[in-house]
Amino acid sequence: MLFHLKPKAMEQKLCFDCGAVIKGRRDKKFCDDFCRNAHYNKQHCDEVLLIRNIHNILRKNRRILESLLPQRQQKTRLLLQKLIDTGFSIKYHTHIELNRLGSPRYFCYEYGYQKVGEEVIIFKKEEKLAA
Ligand SMILES: [Zn+2]
Repeated sequence: MLFHLKPKAMEQKLCFDCGAVIKGRRDKKFCDDFCRNAHYNKQHCDEVLLIRNIHNILRKNRRILESLLPQRQQKTRLLLQKLIDTGFSIKYHTHIELNRLGSPRYFCYEYGYQKVGEEVIIFKKEEKLAA
């Protein structure tokens, strides 16, 4: 049987980190250990930054809910828009619980809120952490 081998196009593999042309084995992704380490360090930094940013948003959300709930009051009710105007980020919460009617109650740590039409009910729930 005769094989007609076409010459493979010269594929230049570029380093994932510095973008230089890689010489040597085809499965190499980086020039050397330096580039490999630099790449993974950058990825790690991005991950740490992302987690820190989200954590800051959650802490800010918690602070806003705390500040909107009057002292010694179990719950308070206000327009959803007013909550958003404070800089509260609707997108982020720590967890969701469903009430008896199956409506979601969104939490930022021990503070929660529930949408009721155009309004939200904000409340605090003492969390007992499982050891
Ligand atoms: Zn490189």
